[in-house]
Amino acid sequence: MAILVYTDIRNNTVKKNALESIQFARACADQCNAAVHVITGKIEQNTHGVLQSAGAHRVLECEALESYTDVNGISEAMASYILSQGIQHIVFSYDYTGKALAPILAGRLNAGLITGITHIPVFKPDGIEAVKTIFGGKASATYVLKSEIRILSVLPNSISFTQFENSEIQHEHLLLKLPLAKVKRIEVKQNNSGAMAPLPEAELVVSAGRGLKGPEHWGIIEDLAKVIGATTACSRPVADMHWRPHHEHVGQTGIAIRPNLYIAIGISGAIQHLAGVNGSKTIVVINTDKDAPFFKSADFGVIGDAFTVVPKLTEAIYRFKNSNS
Ligand SMILES: Cc1cc2nc3c(=O)[nH]c(=O)nc-3n(C[C@H](O)[C@H](O)[C@H](O)COP(=O)(O)OP(=O)(O)OC[C@H]3O[C@@H](n4cnc5c(N)ncnc54)[C@H](O)[C@@H]3O)c2cc1C
Repeated sequence: MAILVYTDIRNNTVKKNALESIQFARACADQCNAAVHVITGKIEQNTHGVLQSAGAHRVLECEALESYTDVNGISEAMASYILSQGIQHIVFSYDYTGKALAPILAGRLNAGLITGITHIPVFKPDGIEAVKTIFGGKASATYVLKSEIRILSVLPNSISFTQFENSEIQHEHLLLKLPLAKVKRIEVKQNNSGAMAPLPEAELVVSAGRGLKGPEHWGIIEDLAKVIGATTACSRPVADMHWRPHHEHVGQTGIAIRPNLYIAIGISGAIQHLAGVNGSKTIVVINTDKDAPFFKSADFGVIGDAFTVVPKLTEAIYRFKNSNS
């Protein structure tokens, strides 16, 4: 028996989300004596060890996935592979790919689906019990999956890492029967965010809101982000007013993130903003208003003016780093 993990590993690049979904699948597989099979795009042999220590038993390398981006076509090919192999459990990361692909696949296979799972599920004789957060992180709910085929997606940054000592990892070239794509990617343009990690994967995020008063003041945010190696983000009005690009907007209608550190500067902490960031491990709030709602969700708070506090913080971190390097 195998648990199948679909990853967005392409061009030999392994992102954290992919490793988390493999770890998650392995914790499931150990409960039902199954092996973990991982679908990837192009992957070099020297990367197999990374997947192996995350818990994979077999790499299914499908080179055709490198350039194929039609999720409907992928779901069609995967459905026929899953049925031909008698696979009952499929795991995704709850990232862009998993959010798009898992529901279509569930529809095709008449499978049960639980998305955005935050803990390792429990395999019971009558079904799989899994916990996910609901109402923008304000509550958690337990679901039971009883369908014959079961699809699970794991919320990024929810599970802690373990190193697995598999004696070996097998490798196989997988020929998925991908249909003629209805959607083709014709060009990829990288945004000018330089070397910053993309927001969904960032461990450190410096975010600012309307309290910054205008786009011309973002230099202090970028300086702080640079000194700690963070990615920048913003509240929705800031993106709506074109002070910052829309891909930086976090919250209910923007990107949901769960970094290790989220520094919120001049952001009030409206519920729609919190919905996208309150899974962060540590939240630091800098705001002039001691009654700003964000302070209720903060681990550390500074009541003060961003234009004074942020440059001082940047300077202090810079000096600390210099004296410790
Ligand atoms: C359906 C819907 C969906 C939404 N989705 C989102 C979403 O996804 N993401 C999102 O962010 N919002 C979203 N919103 C908007 C949300 O309700 C808030 O309006 C928004 O988050 C407020 O942005 P802000 O905190 O930057 O601005 P404000 O609410 O104006 O807050 C600015 C803060 O800056 C502080 N401040 C002012 N000057 C300084 C200074 N010099 N130094 C330090 N602090 C200072 C103020 O005290 C204040 O707390 C949504 C709203 C709706 C209705």
